[in-house]
This record gives sequence, C-alpha cells and structure tokens, in this order.
Amino acid sequence: MATKTLSERKLTEIEEIAAGWGKLLARESFPEGPGLDVSLPDMEDIVARATRAIVHGAVETMAADQAGRLGNQAACPGCGKMCELKRKSRPMAVRGGSADLDEPVAHCPTCRRDFFPSA
Ligand SMILES: [Zn+2]
Repeated sequence: MATKTLSERKLTEIEEIAAGWGKLLARESFPEGPGLDVSLPDMEDIVARATRAIVHGAVETMAADQAGRLGNQAACPGCGKMCELKRKSRPMAVRGGSADLDEPVAHCPTCRRDFFPSA
C-alpha cells in the first residue's frame, strides 16, 4: 500500500513532469509562440485555468482510487451487518481548484441509517 506522504525524490520527479506539461501547454496555447500583444497576465490566465484542471483531475483520480480500496461492502457501525457501498458524488473546493468526489456511502436496512465507512 502506498504511504501517506511521498518522498522528496518522488515529489521532485512529479514537479519535473509538471514542468514538462507546462512547456507542452505553452506550445499548445501558442504553436507559433505568443504574439507581442500577449501580456504576462494573459499567459497567467491560461496557466491558472490549466492548473485548476490538473488539480481537478488529479484529486478526483486519487480520491476515486482510495474509495476503491474500501470494496463494495462495509460493516454497519451500529449492528455490524455488511451493507452495500454506493458512491455519491459531492462537489468539493480543494486547494487550487475544485473536484467532484465520489464518496462511499452505505445504508443499513436493519438500523435504517446511512453511514460513511472509513479505512
Ligand atoms: Zn446496522
């Protein structure tokens, strides 16, 4: 299982990959290079929007992978009965943007209660 925090080496690797994406983004935005009328704030607007998209995609993927580890059933904290886990999408503000997180939620028919399983 992956650890809670990434090593400094792995984080540096990820920064290098992201820097490469930044160069690709620049070429995709202006294949001929930006015109002289393109200001620094114009460039920042493009990058800020792309950054929010990266945050959105990365956080959603990590949260979905994590939720997948819980499986399809969870024990009711009240009676212990195994209940079917469903996913409920919830929009969340996260640092650097937003993400729609699929939260695992279960309903116990015996206790007639919803619960959110934890790891
Ligand atoms: Zn129950």
